[in-house]
Amino acid sequence: MSFSSRLKAELCAAPQGKMCCVTAELYGVFLMGQTWNAELLRVVTTHPDLPARLRALMLRRLGFEFDEAGGHGGRSLVIHDAKKLDAVFGAFGLERIAGQSIHLNHAALEDNCCRSAFCRGVFLSGGSMTDPEKKYHLEILTPHRHLTRELIPVLHEYGFEPKQTSRGGVYGLIFQSSESIEDFLTFMGAPLASLELMQIKQMKEVRNNVNRQVNCETRNFVRTLDAAARQIDGFGRLRRSREWDGLPEPLKAAALARLEAPDASLSELAETLGIGRSALNHRFRKLEALNGVCSPSRPH
Ligand SMILES: [Zn+2]
Repeated sequence: MSFSSRLKAELCAAPQGKMCCVTAELYGVFLMGQTWNAELLRVVTTHPDLPARLRALMLRRLGFEFDEAGGHGGRSLVIHDAKKLDAVFGAFGLERIAGQSIHLNHAALEDNCCRSAFCRGVFLSGGSMTDPEKKYHLEILTPHRHLTRELIPVLHEYGFEPKQTSRGGVYGLIFQSSESIEDFLTFMGAPLASLELMQIKQMKEVRNNVNRQVNCETRNFVRTLDAAARQIDGFGRLRRSREWDGLPEPLKAAALARLEAPDASLSELAETLGIGRSALNHRFRKLEALNGVCSPSRPH
């Protein structure tokens, strides 16, 4: 099951709450549904658990069900009975007037307790979420531009700041930061999905850190090899130069140790010579500086 599907299953199993909250959830579902006008209400469900949840909310709030379930592969729930439509409009303090488009009625959302339920309805009807392993992206889409514009101040008031988007005649709101998505999931009544998102994020961070560390170690290793190669080349030249005989014994010993053991680490060489790592490093630096001024025995 995809993350989005688990999330919707959790929301469909959320407690219904008080009657005012049931109203608010249905309002969110209908607003973001496919069609809602004086003659027709159609919600296309995007999750197998959603029809049963909507049926239960409808029976509790309005005392009746959708007229039919069909179309869109059985996922489309429809009301066209005039009396039922009257009751639906009335439930949200709206009048059923032909040709008038539905706007968001703030009066239907006045109680604080209903905010979560309203957002849950909006998301269940118009929302989806990308697999967070890929990217953090939650979107709520509707064919009605004015609804996204009206939803923005409502969500602002609840503490959320989604971005507006539009493509191919569909308008939407998108959340793109993991923190805001986590908060929104919890707010809608999906604390488990929120927790899962948090865990996925932590795992991704751990993986990134491990990769960064491996890359860093690889770089250090390559740097060590480069340094050894440079020393072998330089000390070899020094050994063949006129300056070699005049060098102090400790420097000669250090250069010979490296030439004899090209693959040895600094610690191993230091141990062979019976000195500390920093002392050996010091000698190597001196040798490299000398090498810069030594007169090569072969032409360059
Ligand atoms: Zn309420």
